[in-house]
Amino acid sequence: PKPVVAIVGRPNVGKSTLFNRITGSRIAIVEDTPGVTRDRLYHDADWRGCSFTLVDTGGIAVGNDDPLIVQVRRQAEAAVAEADVILFVVDARNGLTADDEEVANLLRRSGRPVILVANKVEDFRDPTPVHEFYRLGLGDPVPISAIHGLNIGDLLDRIVELL
Ligand code: GDP
Ligand code: MG
Repeated sequence: PKPVVAIVGRPNVGKSTLFNRITGSRIAIVEDTPGVTRDRLYHDADWRGCSFTLVDTGGIAVGNDDPLIVQVRRQAEAAVAEADVILFVVDARNGLTADDEEVANLLRRSGRPVILVANKVEDFRDPTPVHEFYRLGLGDPVPISAIHGLNIGDLLDRIVELL
């Protein structure tokens, strides 16, 4: 079986956009409203001769008891449990949130290798938007723009290094 790379993070940070960008597909629905991806979504990807299975999740919304949100969160936790590498996506335009810190704690407990991905970085000359994410204690954030396809090659290099 191929190694599994799971994309997690709170809703709306751009997980599905990144999934589609890496897999070259449009199967993950990109939405302005959270909670659209309920189940896990799988697609194979290749980079520099390495194959892996990428998993999109509906995201981890913390502190919400709505049964649907709880179900979505369970799916994301299941994706983490089966993953060899986790892409933890945060939103550099929004900045660090309490939900990001909750997700970071959950990921730390999982013991899996985590790549911290700062999405929605459209100006790579300005280090300010990614700086605060160092506080999560998950290493250097990798700045990308999923929607514009910026720095995706560097991210893929980081992924296959860990496979
Ligand atoms: P998900 O809930 O984490 O799967 O997030 P989506 O992929 O559905 O994206 C949520 C919103 O963020 C959508 O309106 C996307 O178009 C937008 N988005 C995703 N990636 C980027 C990016 O790199 N830059 C900007 N500016 N917006 C983005
Ligand atoms: Mg999504």
